[in-house]
Amino acid sequence: MNSSSRVHNFSAGPCTLPVPVLEAVQNEMLNFENSGMSIIESSHRAPEYDSVHMSALSDFRSLAGVPDDFAILFLQGGASLQFTQIPLNLLSVDEKAGYLNTGTWGGKALSDAKLMCSAYEAWSGADSNFSRMPDASEIEVKEGSRFLHITTNETIGGIQLPKYPKIDFPMVADMSSDFLSRSIDWECFDLVYGGAQKNLGPSGLTIVVVREEIFERSSQVAGGYLDYQIHAKADSMANTPPMFPIYVMGKVLKWMIEAGGLPEFEKRAHERASVLYDTIDNSGGWYQCPVDANSRSLMNIVFRLPNEDLEKKFITEASDFDLVNLKGHRSVGGVRASVYNALPLESAQSLADFMTSFQQQNG
Ligand SMILES: *Cc1c(COP(=O)(O)O)cnc(C)c1O
Repeated sequence: MNSSSRVHNFSAGPCTLPVPVLEAVQNEMLNFENSGMSIIESSHRAPEYDSVHMSALSDFRSLAGVPDDFAILFLQGGASLQFTQIPLNLLSVDEKAGYLNTGTWGGKALSDAKLMCSAYEAWSGADSNFSRMPDASEIEVKEGSRFLHITTNETIGGIQLPKYPKIDFPMVADMSSDFLSRSIDWECFDLVYGGAQKNLGPSGLTIVVVREEIFERSSQVAGGYLDYQIHAKADSMANTPPMFPIYVMGKVLKWMIEAGGLPEFEKRAHERASVLYDTIDNSGGWYQCPVDANSRSLMNIVFRLPNEDLEKKFITEASDFDLVNLKGHRSVGGVRASVYNALPLESAQSLADFMTSFQQQNG
């Protein structure tokens, strides 16, 4: 198999990765930098791995513009563990925090937080069938709240905050599915987090970027692995880190820096998404995007066809053209094209061409 036999992969995560990164991993698999072994057979305390690890930390910092008073942590347990770990580290028992209930992920973050602390809904998208993000003016943060939790991109619903809301409370953001696809206003946040497997690398790694000031605050931390400070002090080497995903992400970060950094990836995100939204908008209503125009995600493009039989046929025939992983999430149905950082523009164009000809043949 060579790179020309690869499919157009619209998977929502884990997802497509840059070909040069995969090739470099392949080349180094038997003998990493003349060590006579692969990096995943090395000790995490060996100098070879140490340099991979420290470069990934510093490249993440420079690419994302992370200020010096934030710690970058490489953890495990997915974004899902953060739904519990965040309240545990940031809140004392008598403190409360607001959550935006913007869809599947915002809702899960809220329900997990409720088990740990007094978390409340600061806005709910239920009335609008989770088809839009709120304006800052609609968000109701209660006096005395410690933070507002937001989900910048709802991966299943296909909605994204066009801008980070400007509010007077520190925010905590789940950026799993739009991480490093645009710049981050660090002054708005006390903590941002995301799994690597949507924009940055393989699964098994969660990145948490946290303002160090929070370590001084009271918290109800159980200790050990769940305590952010333990990882911050040890540069995320307090225990065995997820070496393989860190190693691969390190290569993705270098690839992104070389390509021009976040401004370039923000531009590419707009280009990829426009190709698909334009096709939907120019279909005379045959393809329908069930999402408010202002909240359309640049990462997960969801759409419906006139009926479910046509949707099935669409997904089957698309795969004949190597356009794969287009089925919408089982909870919502329809079609979903995930177009993350590493997806080439040509893949989005190929899908748009297929959409146009499928409509001509079936419309
Ligand atoms: C995928 C995803 C999650 C869950 O991530 P895991 O790493 O599987 O725990 C959480 N939030 C968002 C926005 C996601 O896209």
